[in-house]
Amino acid sequence: MVTGPGETRAADVVEICSRLVSIDTSNYGRAGSNGERAAADYVLGLLRDAGYDPLLLESAPTRANVVLRVPGSTPGLPALLVHGHLDVVPAEPADWTVDPFAGLVADGYVWGRGATDMKDMVAMTLATLLDWAAMGARPRRDIVVAFVADEEEDGEFGAEWLVAEHPGLFDGVRAAIGEAGGVPEEAYAADGSALRFYPVAVAERGSLHLSVSARGTAGHGSRRNDDNAVERLVSGLDRLSRHRWPIALTPPARAFLEQTGAALGVAMDLDSESGIESALDRIGGLRAYVEPALRCSANLTVLSAGYKVNVVPGLARAEIDVRSLPGTDARMLAVIDELLGDSIERDFLSNRPALSAPMDSEWYDAIQRSLHKADPGAIVVPYCMGGGTDAKPFATLGIAGYGFSPLGVDPDGRVPSGMHGVDERVPVAALEAGRRVLSDFLTTV
Ligand SMILES: [Zn+2]
Repeated sequence: MVTGPGETRAADVVEICSRLVSIDTSNYGRAGSNGERAAADYVLGLLRDAGYDPLLLESAPTRANVVLRVPGSTPGLPALLVHGHLDVVPAEPADWTVDPFAGLVADGYVWGRGATDMKDMVAMTLATLLDWAAMGARPRRDIVVAFVADEEEDGEFGAEWLVAEHPGLFDGVRAAIGEAGGVPEEAYAADGSALRFYPVAVAERGSLHLSVSARGTAGHGSRRNDDNAVERLVSGLDRLSRHRWPIALTPPARAFLEQTGAALGVAMDLDSESGIESALDRIGGLRAYVEPALRCSANLTVLSAGYKVNVVPGLARAEIDVRSLPGTDARMLAVIDELLGDSIERDFLSNRPALSAPMDSEWYDAIQRSLHKADPGAIVVPYCMGGGTDAKPFATLGIAGYGFSPLGVDPDGRVPSGMHGVDERVPVAALEAGRRVLSDFLTTV
């Protein structure tokens, strides 16, 4: 923001993050949503005041997305997308020590729902855009910024909708950054020295939500019934839930373990399950990055059958949350079908295949460069996310998604915490340092 002739003051990322948190954009999923419109209006105001011409795109009343393309200075370069969601998961104020929607800044933190997921990233992106406007600066390549609705449900009103209804907004975009990665994680080397790792997501497990059903012969609960739909379904689900999915070391998981092992001075045998298990025991908190994506998973989440204790129903249903590793979708479904058994029907409630983006790319190199510039000791390692993000819908446009929403180190040891839990908070120093990394990346990539 211009404060006088030729003099500029950097945009206040803490203030922007706090304001965003104070706008309650809770997404209750099937039970509704507060909508993102109020947050989108705040974002639009900031961008318009800075001289930009952002688009407001409402997929439904109050379900708002904001998209802006900043033209690059070098013609012919592929464009980059930055995406961040404006919605948050709900918070139960009684469980918190502070008001989750006050946007409180205290004790070196910004507190509240969304502080780490992901209004921090939205604020850092906005601060970068405002600084560019104030300095008359621009990025090398076109940067498309999308602040989207509904990531915390399934993107029906956000990324999925933008991709389906407005794909032209993403013309020329080859890569994207979004949640989650670029946050420092300390681990101790064999010689006792502390090292700082910055895991960057280059892959995501697939999200395959299945509905399965068994049909049988309905009848009286007192009579013999050899064609009981509930028993058939429960037997199939029991086989599935007892199945132990084998470890499958995808390229990012292998690279993660090899690179962390080398940096920590830990010898690893990655050719056996027991070797991998013991490697996990020796990498401290880094384990949380690699473990969720070492195997496929299939969790039973919904079960429904029957309506009266003395009636055998003709139909039993269940829903299963399946997560697949990159490159394994078809094989995994074959195993599931085999375990469930012949007479169980399977349908997709949703089918978002696993993703992977190249580790050997100009994008990953640029991410590394910006992290090293801010923290010369940074050890940047790739990983595969266990869950899913809006990178999945954007991938359907041929956009390679990287999880990179960087934060820096708080010199007093504060760390971000409380994502989807209570007392969510991000350290002010981490946010300010993350903004410098993000600004550098977006300007120089
Ligand atoms: Zn999120």
